[in-house]
Amino acid sequence: MYNTYMIRYGEIGLKGKNRPAFEKRLMGNISRALKDTGPARVQRVYGRILVESAADPARVLDKLSKVFGIVGIGPALRLPLDEEAICEGALAALKDAAAGIKKTPGTPLTFKVEARRSNKQFPRTSPELNGLIGGYLLKNYPGLTVDVHNPQIRVRVEIREKNAFIYAADILGVGGLPVGASGKALLLLSGGIDSPVAGWMAMKRGIEIEAVHFHSFPFTGEKSLEKVRDLCRALTAYTARIKLHVVHFTDIQKDIQKNCPEELRVTIMRRMMFRLAKRIAGQQEALALVTGESVGQVASQTLESMRVINQVIDLPVLRPLVGMDKLEIIHRAQEIGTYDISVLPYEDCCTLFLPKHPATRPRSEQAEEAEKPLAVEDLLAGALERTVVEDIGRKV
Ligand code: ATP
Ligand code: MG
Repeated sequence: MYNTYMIRYGEIGLKGKNRPAFEKRLMGNISRALKDTGPARVQRVYGRILVESAADPARVLDKLSKVFGIVGIGPALRLPLDEEAICEGALAALKDAAAGIKKTPGTPLTFKVEARRSNKQFPRTSPELNGLIGGYLLKNYPGLTVDVHNPQIRVRVEIREKNAFIYAADILGVGGLPVGASGKALLLLSGGIDSPVAGWMAMKRGIEIEAVHFHSFPFTGEKSLEKVRDLCRALTAYTARIKLHVVHFTDIQKDIQKNCPEELRVTIMRRMMFRLAKRIAGQQEALALVTGESVGQVASQTLESMRVINQVIDLPVLRPLVGMDKLEIIHRAQEIGTYDISVLPYEDCCTLFLPKHPATRPRSEQAEEAEKPLAVEDLLAGALERTVVEDIGRKV
């Protein structure tokens, strides 16, 4: 039934000259998100963003609920300036909002009409409209009572120049900042549960992401790569496209296995990953790396390990999961639609080469010593040369 969506947005601190850029970015992202649903008009009117679309409201709402930067969505009816149509529209909006409210048996549903009239040509004043529409709703919806102070449902009616807008439901948006508003970062995307969630959280703060995956073909097969592509695809529900850099990591891993002490292999491997990621970030003008690490989860995620791994690069590394427990991460992964893909059984390169007792407190000198037999520059160049870039788009 809805044909218009009032978008609420904005964070505390979003003001001054940032505002127009924020709004422009958000409007662009909304248009892109709705591209597959049919024609949609996205405009800034009356100091907020208004989306008009004749598509199935469930689909439109699903798409809008995945656009970062949207705080709330008010699905609305845009109607002609006709009293009868307005009353009927108010009833429809009330019914829909009531469907989403848990009722206590025996107690009436409370509501209030809030009419606003910016079009002073319209023959009725706002208080008159409140009375007229309120009366109509009371007559046509049993078990309803007015509460002007703390109603369960507010039926909002706005009388504008050419149309009336009616809305009663308020749907929570995903929040955050529009993707792209905070620059770009490179996500280290394994096939696991954590890194897709980390990417999602970075995007939530307005960061556009590209992904890099270190692939050890043939030790890790085509299926594990397909899984990483699927994870990217799942994340594109929240952004337009994701560029995926697939790095040929096999030679590096073999070299590490051959030349480095077993307990330091993970540390060295991750130092190599960071070095490669830094170079790709440089080429793509990404300002930071994002990883799915949290503190204390595995050997490479102690503070000592992180420090030694981080030492090889001078880029900021964002770790959005740093304070989360595994269960919280799993819940988030389920919510955003990456969990079912992540738990597919295909090996990732780290598990294959995992030593039995990795060092949990490596020191820099140890790592540097252990790396000596490696021709680091040549290995990096070789891996980058064989890197394949894929452009992962949204599934329609
Ligand atoms: P995840 O669930 O994301 O795989 P994890 O808990 O298994 O994380 P690690 O295996 O130590 O932890 O990896 C830590 C982080 O390093 C990952 O979250 C990811 O950002 C990055 N990473 C690990 N392996 C790869 C890989 N093959 N390609 C790209 N990034 C990787
Ligand atoms: Mg992993």
